Amino acid sequence: MSGDNDYHRGETGGPDAKRTRFPTAGPASAGNIPHRPPTGQRMLFPGIRVLAYHVVGHIDDPLLRNYSVTPEQFEAQLQALMGVGFSFVDAATLLDALDGVPVKKPSLLLTFDDAYAGLIEHAVPVLRRLGVPAVVFVVTDEIGGTNSWDVKNGVQSLPLLDAQMLHMLHQEGWEIGSHSRRHPYLPKLEGAALREELTASRTDLIALGLPAPRLLAYPHGGHDLRVRAFARAAGYSAAFGTREHRTHPTANARFAVPRIEPLRSHGPEALVNAVLGPPAASRRWTASREVRSLTLSAWTATSGHLRFRSSGA
Ligand SMILES: [Zn+2]
Repeated sequence: MSGDNDYHRGETGGPDAKRTRFPTAGPASAGNIPHRPPTGQRMLFPGIRVLAYHVVGHIDDPLLRNYSVTPEQFEAQLQALMGVGFSFVDAATLLDALDGVPVKKPSLLLTFDDAYAGLIEHAVPVLRRLGVPAVVFVVTDEIGGTNSWDVKNGVQSLPLLDAQMLHMLHQEGWEIGSHSRRHPYLPKLEGAALREELTASRTDLIALGLPAPRLLAYPHGGHDLRVRAFARAAGYSAAFGTREHRTHPTANARFAVPRIEPLRSHGPEALVNAVLGPPAASRRWTASREVRSLTLSAWTATSGHLRFRSSGA
């Protein structure tokens, strides 16, 4: 991308466009790039942002509920994002972007953590209808099992995708990624255990006849410098955190790609706002060349300048 002028002013969107708020602008200060939009004006930026979904289905569990969206809500969220001008891209496009290939359109990559079996019934039909590609991150010790790591904490037990379902998704064009072997908080593991979580989860998928996973999502979004280095050494091409667990600018930044988590509490309008807004800690990323190639010019142009609004109406 060529820089801070690569955005479109005054985009119009779907039926909700007029009501969608632009993130509130903070006070101007020295060094800010002078491209702040007038309040209420919509802007879309070229580049890719990544969404991290978990459950799609009707879940009442109090601990899991906010990390689930109903199929109707899921479709409404995707429609709202497409309605304001976002395109959904596949994992290969993200990897190209991480390698420096410019992404000229405002784009999103859709990912699902934990590989719940309900995706087949509740997400796949929606994605087929809309022509949206996706990535699913698998806890490989629980293929065909349950979310045992959450059940330990009192969360409702839910079935996970089995091998046949993973093959079906792969044949549909889904990217099958790793979410470790047992879903531990990786920064707490000592070296041998950490290495095993990252490498054995690759070999587990390969043993099923699936491609060696290129992508990793850190369980609980947890990573640090050592975890990122192990992920790189294990052979992944990129790895994902979540909004709450961003990294510091290092050469390993492609192993800490941030994601936005759409929640049950996000109406379509609130999710559009969350996606349009820069992450709160984006200023920490601006020193990273790798991230520059991925993130939107807005993130760098407005770091420290716009406030992120993650929830609302
Ligand atoms: Zn997870």
